[in-house]
Amino acid sequence: MNRRKFLTLMGSAGMVSALGTAKVAKAGVHTFPYYPDSYGVLHDATRCIGCRRCEEACNAVNKLPKPEKPFTDTSVTGTKRRTTAYAWTVVNKYKVNGKDVFRKLQCFHCNDPACASACFAKCFQKQPDGSVTYDGTQCVGCRYCMVACPFYVPGFQYDEAFDPLVQKCTFCEPRLKEGKLPGCVEACPMDALTFGRRSDLLNLARARIAENPGKYANYIYGEHDAGGTAWMVLAPSAAAGKQDQDAKDAKEEKPVVKNHEDEFKQLGLDRHLGTQPMGELTYGALGAVPMIVAFWPVLFGGAYAISKRREARFKAEKEAHVEATKNDLAAAVDAAVRKIEETQGPGAADTARRAMAEALKSREMTSAAEHGEDK
Ligand code: SF4
Ligand code: SF4
Ligand code: SF4
Repeated sequence: MNRRKFLTLMGSAGMVSALGTAKVAKAGVHTFPYYPDSYGVLHDATRCIGCRRCEEACNAVNKLPKPEKPFTDTSVTGTKRRTTAYAWTVVNKYKVNGKDVFRKLQCFHCNDPACASACFAKCFQKQPDGSVTYDGTQCVGCRYCMVACPFYVPGFQYDEAFDPLVQKCTFCEPRLKEGKLPGCVEACPMDALTFGRRSDLLNLARARIAENPGKYANYIYGEHDAGGTAWMVLAPSAAAGKQDQDAKDAKEEKPVVKNHEDEFKQLGLDRHLGTQPMGELTYGALGAVPMIVAFWPVLFGGAYAISKRREARFKAEKEAHVEATKNDLAAAVDAAVRKIEETQGPGAADTARRAMAEALKSREMTSAAEHGEDK
């Protein structure tokens, strides 16, 4: 089951509950305020040479731990790496019509961030500058943001003993506030990353497609995908036959109707996410367990106590830590479901329990896949 299907299913489940229905109905086109003047970054994959300078700069400006292999080792781009709690951006190599193409991965800073919709504790915020920021003060480590993110971006500090947090690209928000460019953008020697207002970047992307017949796929990934994202991607054109038509269409500002799934699929980008804001689906998913939201203080209190308990005894191995988190979360969910049963009856409690079990299972599968792939 892919992520969109999972969230859609959860969303449908949510609609059977009265509270969930009201929230989904109100969601509208944007579940978050839309900031037309916000910033973004355009990643032009046709310019990227996979040098990893952006990775190195990200590591330096964010004072992240040094990786095992130096950033000068570009062979790692051959592995399909994902972002982690300590690598907020990675560049991987893909084959697009038999040719090597490099693409940078990081948080897309979605217009309607699913991570923010899924977070009970409101740790994620969409900021007017376009960034999606995370404040871990209230984070209890439930990792629903990780389940919800359609791009598998947030990483969890599994090895952090006392206060494990979710981590991801910040869009270098502190640097933006100082009038500086994001570290990765500043470091790119190929101009493969362009920072600017999202609306200007869209015009720039259209101009590049129109002025370079045959070079680009006539599609700007992130313009509408998953409800639109602040970070967007241009891909090389895959099919020679389509190239001239692509450039002509772009010049005439024809709406993009062609299906460029090939190019983007080969570049590891999921066109199946569609254009509906992922946050709406996630919000629906949360509707499946409305009482979880209502009983958040109970859960939060439980999780806080759990975390305190853990602090005292935390010397265990990573595996034991993950297992303990699972058990503690299951106990907290049990407590909340019991409350739902008392107040809403067994039907609502069953729905809530099933939805939470599905979410936890999906997260485990994702986590297992992540760890397999990152090696
Ligand atoms: S949903 Fe994922 S990609 Fe979008 S803002 Fe959240 S973490 Fe970033
Ligand atoms: S914007 Fe900043 S945090 Fe995000 S990938 Fe670039 S350097 Fe890293
Ligand atoms: S620094 Fe620029 S060219 Fe080098 S890998 Fe990053 S995006 Fe690509």
